[in-house]
Amino acid sequence: MERYWNEEIECMSREDMKKLQDERLVAQVKHVYENVPYYKKLMDEKGVTPDDIKSTDDLHKLPFLTKNDLREAYPYGLLAKPLSDCVRIQSTSGTTGKRVVAFYTQHDIDLWEDCCARAITAVGGTKDDVCQVCYGYGLFTGGPGLNGGSHKVGCLTLPMSSGNTERQIQFMRDLGSTIICCTPSYAAYIGETLHEMGLTPDDIKLKAGIFGAEPWTEEMRRSIEKSLGIKAYDIYGLTESSGPGVSFECSEQSGMHINEDHFIPEIINPETGEVLPEGEVGELVFTSITKEAFPLLRYRTRDLCRLTREKCSCGRTLIKMSKPMGRSDDMLIIRGVNVFPSQIETVLIEQGYAPNYLIEVDRVNNSDTLDINVEMNTEQFSDKMKDIQDKERELAGAIKTMLGISPKVHLVSPKSITRSEGKAVRVVDKRKLHD
Ligand code: ADP
Ligand code: ZN
Repeated sequence: MERYWNEEIECMSREDMKKLQDERLVAQVKHVYENVPYYKKLMDEKGVTPDDIKSTDDLHKLPFLTKNDLREAYPYGLLAKPLSDCVRIQSTSGTTGKRVVAFYTQHDIDLWEDCCARAITAVGGTKDDVCQVCYGYGLFTGGPGLNGGSHKVGCLTLPMSSGNTERQIQFMRDLGSTIICCTPSYAAYIGETLHEMGLTPDDIKLKAGIFGAEPWTEEMRRSIEKSLGIKAYDIYGLTESSGPGVSFECSEQSGMHINEDHFIPEIINPETGEVLPEGEVGELVFTSITKEAFPLLRYRTRDLCRLTREKCSCGRTLIKMSKPMGRSDDMLIIRGVNVFPSQIETVLIEQGYAPNYLIEVDRVNNSDTLDINVEMNTEQFSDKMKDIQDKERELAGAIKTMLGISPKVHLVSPKSITRSEGKAVRVVDKRKLHD
């Protein structure tokens, strides 16, 4: 039977949720206008005052915030509470440039951890579980967020942080971990190490994994589920709106429920800023309606996905977002064709390769080149040149069918591609060096 952390909120009727959001939004806009001169200026420039925002129907009138605004306002420019009321700072991973920092009051920490508790409960977590958190701890939000959520649920929490993979597995066995939280790329690495240690999923007690912080494909999900003998669930979040737990997957494993009582989502056309109807793919925008210290309004995440209110079998009424296929700035334009690294990952896993790969893009004689280094496992490895060339050709053909452009595939020897313990780096775009 499905369990909820906060049934009243998670299964609230649409009308009641809208009422709650309306009230919270009106109060939040006022709070920000009065306390954040940076955002007040943006509202003034757009000719909007807090009086213009009477409900969520008026959300589109507010100006957007972008990562550039965060960088410009760094470090204190978007703070809405005195520093003396803040108890924590976290920071983005800096995947796409200069890091930004976020501030939390104790109230903000509580609501963030509460969102993570909902995620843990949704995968079946209770106080009888042993929850091994191997997201990085520190400024990165992954470790602290799930750690806090795990405490709230009452799980026995193992604050492992990432790295030292054999020790992770040893603790997992000795202490009987039942839930694991980390990036999907690290989960794949842990699965690989488990098998290398001569163990199978029967030697561990894990039943569920909560994986996020980077894009991952359905093929990757199946591969992790098999290697660890678990159900693998997605979790999404970003430092700018607390951290992980903005949305989370339920037993249906088909998209993530957004904690709408805290974050109002919109999908916009990234070029025009126009709000798109439900179901269309576009850039995800969040408005934080309960955060005190760092309440971003209409923050453009650059993550691309779609929203749906279709009924979910778990009973939750919270709106769902599809798995983000990557950020708008992850998209590579190669010879005029849009390419997402996740499309390449899909083909690789379908063709029986492990998700150990590195994509290199360059420009030679004014033409874009796409090189994909893919690791073979020991069974795929061969010392016959011809075998390898045949396999490379086959894989290149499958990728061409998916993308419409031909890559050069290089099969490389087992263990030659660096494993990720946090967010994996899958792409090196050398064209940026020439610009
Ligand atoms: P950075 O933006 O520097 O990576 P964060 O650590 O705050 O900093 O990461 C947030 C970003 O991570 C999101 O905007 C999104 O691009 C990515 N992300 C987080 N969870 C997921 C997920 N489940 N699927 C895909 N991408 C995710
Ligand atoms: Zn559901």
